[in-house]
Amino acid sequence: MKAIRAKWLVPMTDGDCDTIIEDGVVIFDTECIKAVGKFSDVQIESYVPIQHFENHVLVPGLINSHTHAAMSLLRGYGDDMSLHQWLHDCVWPVEKEFVGPDYVKLGTELAIYEMLRTGTTTFMDQYFHADVTAHVAETVGIRVACGESILDFQDGRLHAKIDSAIDQLTLFSQRHDSRYVIPILNTHACYTVPEDGLERVSQEAKELGCRVHIHLHESKHECDSYSDTHQGKSALETLIECGLFNDRLMAAHCVQLSETERRLFAQYGVNVIHCPKSNLKLASGICPVQALLDLGVNVSLGTDGACSNNGLSMLSEMQFAALVGKSVNGGDSTAVSCHTALRMATWNGAVTLGMSDRIGSIEPGKWADFVAIDLSSPDCLPVFDPISSLVYSTGARVSDVWVGGERRVRDGDVLAMRIDRSEIERITDRLKAFKAKRENRL
Ligand SMILES: [Zn+2]
Repeated sequence: MKAIRAKWLVPMTDGDCDTIIEDGVVIFDTECIKAVGKFSDVQIESYVPIQHFENHVLVPGLINSHTHAAMSLLRGYGDDMSLHQWLHDCVWPVEKEFVGPDYVKLGTELAIYEMLRTGTTTFMDQYFHADVTAHVAETVGIRVACGESILDFQDGRLHAKIDSAIDQLTLFSQRHDSRYVIPILNTHACYTVPEDGLERVSQEAKELGCRVHIHLHESKHECDSYSDTHQGKSALETLIECGLFNDRLMAAHCVQLSETERRLFAQYGVNVIHCPKSNLKLASGICPVQALLDLGVNVSLGTDGACSNNGLSMLSEMQFAALVGKSVNGGDSTAVSCHTALRMATWNGAVTLGMSDRIGSIEPGKWADFVAIDLSSPDCLPVFDPISSLVYSTGARVSDVWVGGERRVRDGDVLAMRIDRSEIERITDRLKAFKAKRENRL
């Protein structure tokens, strides 16, 4: 049993993002959280060691609801282009050439290092070689929701791929600790998986009772070209027809939504994952977050991959979500408050994953995932509201991170993992050579 005492503690109980406990304490072990409250009110046995974080706010572990971890190796590989050009000229050719188990392992390690250091304790990943991602995450001690990415390369292998994605989910349950590896079905998008594939994923998800992760309405170009090639139908309508549009669907981006479509998200209970930095960088559009929240839609936060962000910090993502959320529909400075942004990065992420009974808040009985954020830097002072400081100030620094009651980051140092710079440099040289060769040819 251990105890952490912090100057401020945000429990986020049942998604309440406004309660801040001054001089709070949490008692926990590796099973779960035992007690939470004001230090003066909670009884602590004399044998329990208490660690005191005198200048910190303790918040639930951050949940990155949409990323492609291994793409950290492509950070800065292709900037300042449209989503369509970025995918077709940059990402897909390089992935075809390079992606393999070793590449995914190295990229995932790099991503996990950054995610832990910035307070993420659970992430949802969509990429190839998901077995490697699962293994790396479990070994390091960060929670991951993943499954093999399903895309139709028009090679006649789509259904074989869906078969192997399903087989992999069974293997995940046999090989991995279910507290660390959460199996999901990863369908890339409606424009990369035809309707017979989507229908199949829908049936399998229903039978397995698992959640489905997809990119949806990510840019105007995508929406227009989908409708042009599908008799005027939208991707969202296709999902409804295929039976995928339900409360187990986790839809990333959703930047192009009509008023009617917004209401459909509320009606069907579909989860939206907002990725503001990636959407801004690719000029994809802006998700109408506050309008969706007002309709009762669950909206969580994701960084997307480091090739379109170019970082994986949920602190930065919260700041962008709060700032960008105010500029939609002519502007509303009360939209997406800093408190709402923190709820999107914690509780709402847990709801997206169907795990709000285990993660997303600091409550007795839940897994002990939390983050101590140091607010003592002069560029954070003075602190009137610690949530405002961690979302809007630039000086908030993640100092310590616990996953399952075990410390994974101590005073900014990620424990139990090291990044081999020479290995990263070797792959960077190969990527540079590939890029130069392609640019000469294009
Ligand atoms: Zn993505």
